[in-house]
Amino acid sequence: MKHYDIIVIGTGGGTKLVTPPSKLGYKVAAIEKESLGGTCLNRGCIPSKMLLYPAEIMTLAARSEKFQIRFPEKPQVDFKTLIERISKTVDDDSASILPAYEKNPNIDYFAGTARFLSNDTISVNGETLKADRIFIAAGARPAIPDIPGLDSVPFMTSREALRRTELPRSMIVIGGGFIALELGFAYSAFGTDVTFLVRDRMLKHEDKEITDEFERIFTQSHNVLLRSKIQKIEYSENMFFADVIADGKTVRLEAEALLVATGVRANTDLLGLENTEIQTDERGYIRVNEYLETSVPNVYALGDVIGRYFYRHSVNFEGEFLFRTLYREKKRVPIEYPPVPHAVFTHPQVAKVGKTEEELILENVDYISVKNPYSASATGMARLSDSGFIKLLAEKKTGRVLGAHAIGDEASNVIHLFILLMTMNGTVDDLLRMIYIHPALPEIARNAARKAKELLQTN
Ligand SMILES: Cc1cc2nc3c(=O)[nH]c(=O)nc-3n(C[C@H](O)[C@H](O)[C@H](O)COP(=O)(O)OP(=O)(O)OC[C@H]3O[C@@H](n4cnc5c(N)ncnc54)[C@H](O)[C@@H]3O)c2cc1C
Repeated sequence: MKHYDIIVIGTGGGTKLVTPPSKLGYKVAAIEKESLGGTCLNRGCIPSKMLLYPAEIMTLAARSEKFQIRFPEKPQVDFKTLIERISKTVDDDSASILPAYEKNPNIDYFAGTARFLSNDTISVNGETLKADRIFIAAGARPAIPDIPGLDSVPFMTSREALRRTELPRSMIVIGGGFIALELGFAYSAFGTDVTFLVRDRMLKHEDKEITDEFERIFTQSHNVLLRSKIQKIEYSENMFFADVIADGKTVRLEAEALLVATGVRANTDLLGLENTEIQTDERGYIRVNEYLETSVPNVYALGDVIGRYFYRHSVNFEGEFLFRTLYREKKRVPIEYPPVPHAVFTHPQVAKVGKTEEELILENVDYISVKNPYSASATGMARLSDSGFIKLLAEKKTGRVLGAHAIGDEASNVIHLFILLMTMNGTVDDLLRMIYIHPALPEIARNAARKAKELLQTN
């Protein structure tokens, strides 16, 4: 039996509790069953964004004629080399973690699956470990929906779609969330004929006006079957077939590839939690309180496995919070999240921070809502923007900004103005106090703030 100060299960956001405490002298056991670095590095944020940037270039190239630019030939992607470059970059990055762990006398790395034997004992590769504190950062993996025939066909999840070196001529994407849309958009930009099968709406958790605008723009250049029900999936002679009911009609689709991206499920089933008193919720995520403590003393959980937020930036925040409070400040304080933003890196991009209008209505908040289109700005003119906007929601009485939503070029960057503002509890007046660079994209935010100010004055 080996005893450590800290055991960390999972090396995505969990790494925030490996190296930093080890530098303070704590003995840490890091356990990982796959490549070091977790989902984001190996099969999530990083490879997908490395794929999406070239996809954005292809999209802009396809629209270049409206800027009087003509390519002698249609741009083509060398998909195999692109995927190989992406895979090598992330594999090298992941491989660079182990030497750093091996050099560190305070870190023991266990390559294997951790299972709880009891509340405070873990088994990995036949070894038994105990620790003063255990951090579970075991993440989540793609959830596979219950569709007749799906379990007997060789479909891809995001994991395989990011490693596939051959560009299929056609692809069916099942799902309407950000992973389905980002990957489907990328393949489509490179030339695959993609059909999206969406059970309900695309990006349905966004502010409704964003969902509406996204569907309006995205469906102009993509095949999308909204509110569709898949009856069955078949596979024969290297082709996938999907029988789908959409708009009251049954259609049979066929494609060379099938991507399933309908959400994730927690990796709690692998942890031997049945041997402990650690509780999970009805969806299988680990229950934690405001201290990120599980129902067992000295066992904490963070990241996707707690089902609160599903972003690398949020698990990083949680990991840094635990390290700071438990090991630097050595006090037990509740976690207070600033507004947690997110973005969807499709074309158009979508980004959000704070509340949606629908949430404000449900919460009976007295608010104002304004929208400013990209086209009503100098940079919008230069970009010939004919869609996209920033939406600003503010408290009527105080002008405090409660939510901001962007859809359009570089929305994931533009939103940062509001992330800072909301983190500092800022108001519409604060947005109007600063000088904006003319004619940069954030002027769209300022123009929205001007509209909001007018509305606040007249109300
Ligand atoms: C295609 C895709 C694109 C994404 N894009 C973005 C994005 O742009 N921005 C963003 O913020 N987020 C994005 N995400 C989400 C992001 O990757 C996750 O929210 C984040 O990685 C969660 O971190 P985590 O530490 O909770 O879990 P993970 O990063 O999943 O790490 C958990 C680790 O624990 C290991 N593990 C699990 N069980 C055990 C066990 N019993 N023993 C040992 N090891 C175990 C797993 O192998 C894994 O490495 C994306 C995800 C996908 C799939």
